[in-house]
Amino acid sequence: MDEKLKTLAAWLRESDSIVFFGGAGVSTESGIPDFRSQDGLYRMSWAYPPETILSHSFFINHPEVFFRFHREKIIFKDAKPNRAHLRLAELEQAGKLRAVVTQNIDGLHQAAGSAAVYELHGSIHRNYCMDCGKRYPLAFVAEGADVPRCGCGGIVRPDVVLYEEALDQAVLNGAAEAIRRADLLIVGGTSLVVYPAAGLLDDYRGERLVLINQSPTPVDMRADLVIAGKIGEVFARI
Ligand code: NAD
Ligand code: ZN
Repeated sequence: MDEKLKTLAAWLRESDSIVFFGGAGVSTESGIPDFRSQDGLYRMSWAYPPETILSHSFFINHPEVFFRFHREKIIFKDAKPNRAHLRLAELEQAGKLRAVVTQNIDGLHQAAGSAAVYELHGSIHRNYCMDCGKRYPLAFVAEGADVPRCGCGGIVRPDVVLYEEALDQAVLNGAAEAIRRADLLIVGGTSLVVYPAAGLLDDYRGERLVLINQSPTPVDMRADLVIAGKIGEVFARI
């Protein structure tokens, strides 16, 4: 482990176009459960599986269940950035990191100070009326009634990408471009099974692909450095 951390530290020093690509595992050390870990959302009991509740058709048909799940299992208002978020923000400020590409919707990279963040799946911090488009802050949805409604009567929904919905093409293109130009790609805290997000790794053309994850992923074989561990702890040690 120490040797691997030394290698990563050296690569960080030698790179000036780093891109980080992450998922739910980046925020578990901030107290937000991921989907597929031992204590992730997929292991819990709820009347429907999470990927059903978080789908577009379910949202349309059962908005009250969707918002109850959203408030209880997705929104963690007191969550704070951990060492991984903070260190990535420092690397950006030092001019070494070009972008963070994240599948997370929790806004913790921005809370840590990162500016160049591609949020592939949107953000719980942005919400809008489905009828008139008026924008609302997180508090409106977090503390609102069962199904939050705009003054015009429309449902106010989070600007997140549900299953069955398409990703924002501009965000996807920007993320792909950043990855194509990267001289070091660090992938962490993601099971790499959710597409099209996971497919972005194919855009990488550099020679140094680093994976930091608690459990094995389908991409371990392709990586130049695999660090098995907690990502916040790893960043705290380099
Ligand atoms: P995932 O749950 O499928 O996988 C998480 C991965 O991270 C697992 O491989 C797990 O072993 C690893 N992991 C967990 N904690 C870790 C830690 N401390 N250090 C290192 N690795 C750790 O998540 P995913 O790949 O991001 O894909 C699922 C979907 O989850 C995404 O679309 C995302 O939108 C959504 N999601 C987001 C949040 C959030 O915003 N915080 C939370 C839950 C789910
Ligand atoms: Zn409205």
